[in-house]
This record gives sequence, structure tokens and C-alpha cells, in this order.
Amino acid sequence: MNRHDALTSAFLQELGPHTDHQPVFLQAVEEVARDVLTIEKNDAGWAAARVLHRLAEPDRILSFRVTWEDDAGTVHVNRGWRVQTSNAIGPYKGGLRFHPSVSVDVLKFLGFEQCFKNALTGLPLGGAKGGSDFDPSGRSRREIMRFCQAFMRALGPFIGPDRDVPAGDINVGPREIGFLFGAWRSQHDVFAGALTGKGLSYGGSEMRIEATGFGLVYFVCAMLAESGDAIEGKRVAISGKGNVATHAALKAIDSGATVITLSDTAGTLYAPDGLNRDTVAWVQARKAAGKDIADPPRDSGARFETDALPWIFEPEIALPCATQNEMDADMAKALVDGGCMVLAEGANMPLTADAAAVVETAGMAYAPGKAANAGGVAVSGLEMSQNSHRRFLDAGQIDAALRDIMHSIHAETAGEGRDSDRIDYRRGANVAAYRRLARAITAQGVI
Ligand code: GLU
Repeated sequence: MNRHDALTSAFLQELGPHTDHQPVFLQAVEEVARDVLTIEKNDAGWAAARVLHRLAEPDRILSFRVTWEDDAGTVHVNRGWRVQTSNAIGPYKGGLRFHPSVSVDVLKFLGFEQCFKNALTGLPLGGAKGGSDFDPSGRSRREIMRFCQAFMRALGPFIGPDRDVPAGDINVGPREIGFLFGAWRSQHDVFAGALTGKGLSYGGSEMRIEATGFGLVYFVCAMLAESGDAIEGKRVAISGKGNVATHAALKAIDSGATVITLSDTAGTLYAPDGLNRDTVAWVQARKAAGKDIADPPRDSGARFETDALPWIFEPEIALPCATQNEMDADMAKALVDGGCMVLAEGANMPLTADAAAVVETAGMAYAPGKAANAGGVAVSGLEMSQNSHRRFLDAGQIDAALRDIMHSIHAETAGEGRDSDRIDYRRGANVAAYRRLARAITAQGVI
């Protein structure tokens, strides 16, 4: 075991027995610890302040019952959580996810990642994440509304524009944010930006919906530019069919790329000559209606490959945009063997640790989600400042600001991660974010 690993394993052991049952959280912490513990150790102030320990132990975890009634009058009970990880550099900030896989483990991982991602944006945003094990699939609009209202009855007292500002994540989109915001506003009798991702008619920002996917493509373009290359004409495989995946697809198509896939849990929509904008819009409409994508329009040039994953179709650029640990080592090998040169994460930690090792060993340009998908929370940050200022920027202004932020995240992570022969974006992102957080945490004393 080298010094690096010894430091990391000692650190993980110190996190305490309760984390033994939190494998996803530990996976995320280990990845960061490997990169930053040597830096922490070499700075007396940061080591004494035990910066990484403080980030790996959330400020608090709110856990609550969510009781709601379905359309038939049956009462359901779900669990809801908000993990408020750190507000050292700004109000707690991060999305809400409604999915049966949501647990304290998953939310602690996401809150921890969010601290680093939000620090990279350069905006004053702390880190948090929340959600519920509620499964919205097949639920009516009225059921979703009642669930959101019940969720906010429990969470509402603990959030606010200077305190904690949730947003969307998996299965929480503009419709859910509308219901959640309505419930919070009526509960507090205050109109304030306590959530982001709001509709344009009630305090939302232009471009928030597009931001994560567009920002991901801006980041990929910056990665390619490092080697004098461009996205134009490249075969891009994207997984997922949600907000991030479809907006990344649209921006990549507009930038001249050939987007060959989108996907869901049943399989992959594969278009050898590239998906067109209409087919992406069709996917968005199917997703919004809660329907599958197995039967694409006849003239789309796309076919649905049941049970296939996007990574077997030999892309040059891979954008996993579905969920954590969606790509295993075998699929990473398939990408390497297929000649993929760039992988950027639209989802949070979509690669297993083994898959990440395969991609890194192969020398692929590999950008972690905390850098590459930060565009969403960055525009959330701009939504917060527009709410405080009570004036709005137009779509062109937000898009330009988003592009600038993604380029500066790229420059910072590339700068920290540059080795003699390649750029280690993972290390660059971890180190750049850590430095910003460490400065703030140590400056504020032991609290
Ligand atoms: N859920 C998104 C993320 O993973 C956005 C969070 C936000 O806008 O607060 O970064």
C-alpha cells in the first residue's frame, strides 16, 4: 500500500461505523480523499482544521415522514430527507430526487459531491441534497401535487433563500418545483427564491432547464480544444432520456455532432446516422407523458435496441447522463475498445470505481460530474441572484454566463490536473474545489 492509500484508508476508517452501510457515499468520499488528503496533510492549517472530515460529516440530516392520499383515497407513507452537508461558502444548495433508490447513503453522497461541484462554479453556494423514496411513475398530476405539498409541509420550515435552496434532480422537474414552491410560499406567506428551477412566470431564470446539458457540451468542447480538436462530426453516445440527456443531445446536434443514442432502463434508442432534433423532442414528450421510447417515429432513422447500453455502439465521445453507477468496468472496456476518446459525466458519479479505473488507465480524457455537469447548479446560482436583485437577464445573457462559467471550471480543473502528458480532470476538480472550501472552513474557525 503506498502512502496515498494508507492515508485514505485511515481516513475512511475514522469516518465511523455508521458509514459501513453507506457504500455509495464511501465510494464518493474515497475518490476525493485519494486526491486531496496529501494536500491537506501538507498544509498545517488545513490538516489541523480537519477540513475533509468536516465535509464528510454533514452539518445535519433531516428525516421526515411524508403522508399523502392517492386518487382512490388510499393513504401512503413515504420517507423524505434533506442532507445539509455544508454552508461554509453559501446557503445549502442542491436538488431533490424522487426515486425508490433514494436513501441516506445516496443523499449523503450527492450532498458531498454537491459541495465540491458548487465550489467549482465560483458562486457562493453551499452543498445539500434531498428527496424521497417516492416512485412517481404512473402517478396522476393531482397525486404528484399532493405528494409535493406533503413533502413541503415537512421540509418547508428548514429552507429559505439565505438558508437552503433546493432545486430539481431525477423526477423533480418544473412541474414538481411549481407545486413545491406554491406549497412553501403559502406556508410562509412570503414570495422569495426558496427554490430554483422555477417557471419563468414566477421568478425562474431563462435557460435553467437547458443549463446542465448545454453546460456539459460547453465543457466537452473545451476539453477537445485542449488538443486542437472540435465536437463537429464526432459520434456522441448519450445515456438517459431526461432533462440533462436530451438537452446535451440538442446542444451537441446544434454544434454539428452526430448523436447516436439516448436510452432508458429498457434499452437504447440507436440512430447510426444521428438523432435529429425532432426525435429528441419526441423523446422529451414521451418522457413528460411517462411513456417509453421503444417505438420511435418511422422516419427518424432510429431503432430501439432492447437491453442494449449506449456504450457498445463505438462512440468517440461518451456522455453518461442517467444515474450513479450506471456504467460498469465491462462497459468502460467496450468504450475503450470502440475508440472513445472523451468521457464527460452528465450524471453524478455514473461510473463505478472499477469503470473509472479502466477509463483512466486507458488515458481517455475523463471529466467528473462535479466539473462537467455543474452548469445546472450554476444557473440555479444565477436564478438566486436574479431573485435577490429582482431583475432578470435574458436567455442570451444567461447562456453567455453559463458558457463563461463552464470555461472557467475547465480552465481551473485542467490547470490543477495537468500532468506532463495528460490532464487528470478528476484530480483537478477535487483539488480546485477542496482548496476553495478549505480556505473558507479554516477562516471561519472551529464551529
Ligand atoms: N440536481 C442538480 C445537480 O446535481 C442541480 C442542483 C441545483 O440546481 O441546485 O447539480
